[in-house]
Amino acid sequence: MEEMTNMEQRASYSGHTTFMRRPVSDAFTEADVVVTGVPFDVATTNRPGARFGPRSIREQSLQLDWGPIWPWGFDPFDRLRVVDSGDVDWDWGRPQDMAPAVSGHVGRVLEAGALPLVLGGDHYVTLPVLRAVAERHGPVALVHFDAHRDVETGAGEGRIDHGIVFSEALAEGLLIEEACVQVGIRTVFEGETGAAMTVLDAAQVHAMRSDAVAARIRKVVGDRPVHLTFDIDCLDPAFAPGTGTPVPGGLSTHQARAILWGLKGLRFTSFDIMEVAPAYDPAGITALAAATLAVDFCCLATGGRV
Ligand code: MN
Ligand code: MN
Repeated sequence: MEEMTNMEQRASYSGHTTFMRRPVSDAFTEADVVVTGVPFDVATTNRPGARFGPRSIREQSLQLDWGPIWPWGFDPFDRLRVVDSGDVDWDWGRPQDMAPAVSGHVGRVLEAGALPLVLGGDHYVTLPVLRAVAERHGPVALVHFDAHRDVETGAGEGRIDHGIVFSEALAEGLLIEEACVQVGIRTVFEGETGAAMTVLDAAQVHAMRSDAVAARIRKVVGDRPVHLTFDIDCLDPAFAPGTGTPVPGGLSTHQARAILWGLKGLRFTSFDIMEVAPAYDPAGITALAAATLAVDFCCLATGGRV
C-alpha cells in the first residue's frame, strides 16, 4: 500500500482523484478508516443527482490536502491509515441490490477492524450502512444532522425512500431510540415515528452556542457506540445549494463544524455524508463543505472509536 505524504503533495488540479489523495486499497485490515462511495440516488423525493456526490466530494477534497487541519492542529493522516476503496458496485437495473451490496461492503470493513466513512448517495444509503454496523455492534446511538427527520410513515413495506431511512432503522431494531439525536431539523411531516429521539431543531441550534449543542449531543449519546450521519441539506442552501431537497434556514458550515469539534471522544462506529448533488452546485461549495466535514470525521476518528 503506497502512502502519499504531504511532502509528495500534487497540485490540486492534477493527479488521481481519491479522497484526500489517500491510496486506493481493499486491504482493510491495514487501514484505520476506509472511505467508500455509494453513487445511488433513486430514493430521492425531489431533485436527483446525488449519484455524482462521491466523485464531487473526492474532487473538492484535493484542495484540502495540505497538512494540519485547522483548528485541530494536526494532520489526521499522520495518525490514521486512511484508504479509498472506490465505489460499491451493483447492477444499476436492480436498485434493490444496492442495499445488500453496501451492507456486505461495510460489514467487511468492520470485520477488518476499520472504521467506515461512506460518501453518498441519497440518504437511503445510510440504512444498509446501519444494518452492517448493528450486525457487528448491536443497536447503536445516532448523531444525525439534517433538515429532515427522515422518520416518515411507510417503514416495513419494502419502499426505497430516503424519507423513511430512520423509521426503517428503528423498525429493524438497528438504533437505540432514546440515544438518537437529530440536529438542524426544520420540516415536519404527519405521522413521524421516533418520538423518543431528541430533536434539536434549527431554531434551537441557532439560539444556542455550538459548544452547548455538542454538550447536549454528548449527553444523549453517552458512552454508547455511535454512528454519525450528515445529510448535507442540514446546511443552509446558501452554504450547500447542491442537494436534492434544500430547505432555507439551516446551519452554516462553520456552525456544523463547531458542533463536530465538540464531539471528540465519542465512541464512533462509522460515519457517512449524504445528499451532495453537484448538478446544483456550480461553485463546488457544497462538495467542498462535505469534504471538509469528512476530514473533520477523520480528526474525530483519532479521538475515539469502538
Ligand atoms: Mn436526510
Ligand atoms: Mn434532508
